[in-house]
Amino acid sequence: MKLEKEQKIEITKIIISVILFLGIFITDKIIHLESVFDGDLGFLFPFFLYLICYLIVGYEVVFKAFKNLFSGKMLDETFLMTLATFGAFGLAIYKGINNEQIEGFDEACMVMILYMIGEFFQDYAVERSKKSISGLLELKPMFAWKKEDGKIKKVSLEEIKVGDILVVNPGEKIPVDGIITQGETQIDTRAITGESMPKEVSFNDRITSGCVNLTTQFEMEATKKYDDSTISKIIKLMEEGADKKSKAENFISKFARIYTPIVVILAVIIMLIPSLITKDSGTWIYRGLSFLVVSCPCALVISVPLSFFVGLGKASKCGILIKNSTYLEQIEKANIFVFDKTGTLTKGNLVVKDIFPKENEEEILKSAYVAEKFSSHPIALSIKKYIEENIKIEENIDNFTLTNVSGFGVIAKNKVDTIYSGNEKLMKKANITFKKQEGTVVYVAKNEKYLGCIVLEDEIRQESKETISLLHAENCKTYMLTGDSEFVASQVATNLGVSEYKSCLLPQEKVEFVETLIKNKERSDIVCFVGDGINDAPVLTRADVGVSMGGIGSDIAIEASDMVLMNDDLLGLINAKQIGKKTKSIVKQNVVFAILVKLAILILSVLGLTNMYLAIFGDVGVSILTILNATRISNTKLVKKDKKSKG
Ligand code: ADP
Ligand code: MG
Repeated sequence: MKLEKEQKIEITKIIISVILFLGIFITDKIIHLESVFDGDLGFLFPFFLYLICYLIVGYEVVFKAFKNLFSGKMLDETFLMTLATFGAFGLAIYKGINNEQIEGFDEACMVMILYMIGEFFQDYAVERSKKSISGLLELKPMFAWKKEDGKIKKVSLEEIKVGDILVVNPGEKIPVDGIITQGETQIDTRAITGESMPKEVSFNDRITSGCVNLTTQFEMEATKKYDDSTISKIIKLMEEGADKKSKAENFISKFARIYTPIVVILAVIIMLIPSLITKDSGTWIYRGLSFLVVSCPCALVISVPLSFFVGLGKASKCGILIKNSTYLEQIEKANIFVFDKTGTLTKGNLVVKDIFPKENEEEILKSAYVAEKFSSHPIALSIKKYIEENIKIEENIDNFTLTNVSGFGVIAKNKVDTIYSGNEKLMKKANITFKKQEGTVVYVAKNEKYLGCIVLEDEIRQESKETISLLHAENCKTYMLTGDSEFVASQVATNLGVSEYKSCLLPQEKVEFVETLIKNKERSDIVCFVGDGINDAPVLTRADVGVSMGGIGSDIAIEASDMVLMNDDLLGLINAKQIGKKTKSIVKQNVVFAILVKLAILILSVLGLTNMYLAIFGDVGVSILTILNATRISNTKLVKKDKKSKG
């Protein structure tokens, strides 16, 4: 078990006080500490000894209870513990003064020790699952090696600029996103994608920050600053999400706010009323105090957030990053799924299938290259790749100003020429007569003169169909939205069997569509949008749950989304639902179990059938059982890509 520094201090305090406690307790049983010093105040000697032991483990609890008391939020568990243990001390002193057999010093101590042991385990469990949520800090690269004028020097991540050449040694983390410029190696992408097989990469391959270089030194060119790199985005996403509590967690804090005062009032009633009637105030004060101790809703308070942490951790282990527990609850309930087509349902790896030049093939390719040079749209990337492989480019393109007209294409302008590269809409907008082709088509024109078109073909993702049918099996509705032509859209939609589709949409129209869906939905409906973030980041933020593709997606996608599928595997949606479902059922079990046991012990304590030891054992026991139960979430069964499912 690996412990944080604070946890080590905690456990040391617990061990010291347990040893001290046993020492005092055994000596007391043998020689009766209260008779070591003669006189009426002899009982103060064991009191001081136990008090030391008590304060070693418990001073922080007492301190916090008093601090809360003065800041007005007094009714939490530290308050209950302090009240109950002070009560036990008080009771023992009262008995001592009246020369009765004293009991209660040891109980006060033991209660505090047991409570702290319980706290320690909760802390440990929470810390551990928090850490497993993508191992945030371990993920973060610490520095980079920059190559400059033939020398290699160590630089901080913030100093890295786009275009810098960096050297990554075996065992080191890739500091920023980039492209390999020299060498080949295997990288471990597990932290980012959850994929456990190492990935072979070589010259010109894109690599993601946060992955670990496994075998050989290589050189890379930084294509992003650290702040814009995947790893930094992920860390920010997770940190931002970490503070927000889910509905179930909020329910618990609200519950505790009503529950605690009720318990305190009940305890006072138990102490006062029977005492007045039976005149046996000692017994009833003791029962009231045990009632307070047992009433701590620790197990309840801890098990709910813990279950969610385990759920989020499980998801991140298989490459599904979920911003916080709210979205784990939401994705479980989501029943309307809207997909972007290019890059989401399809691979976005388009291949040039046909070129229809009006006159000259080279002219259309060169012009398209000028326009698409700096676009990151999947269409642009594919065209660029094709052109670079097939013709020699020498055109000076630097003095072109490029305008991305999202949903239309690109316009490139310099003093002499204007080049248009985009879909039908762009041609119509520019008043250019063109010859229509079926498919995913990019029409190219220069100065109002139509040059021809490039027809591209995309490949549907292997798991798209399965994902859609599994969603339908769960009674979800599916939509596909695309800016692509009706022809391609209907082909893909029919192939996948989505419930409905819309084609030829502008990015703004996608937003409007999702907004209408949200406006007209039933209250229980939850709308999830899945996209690659290229041209659809606004929709990602608008949907109840925005899911983006981490691998192919754009940088803004991760920021705009609530959930990221790091390995671009759409089945992650199904798996996230599965994990959400399991988490929900475990939370329910834990809450019901904790409340029932609590009630039983509360009743027993009022009837005097239990003492403080048993009461606190009950509480620690329930906490530990609910913690163990929560770990079952990590056994959730998942759907895998290569295995064909029955559905
Ligand atoms: P989708 O992801 O559904 O394709 P987009 O809004 O990203 O939707 O794109 C809509 C359409 O706009 C594309 O199908 C394409 O016709 C055109 N388009 C967008 N960007 C470019 C580009 N860089 N070059 C050519 N056409 C583009
Ligand atoms: Mg898109």
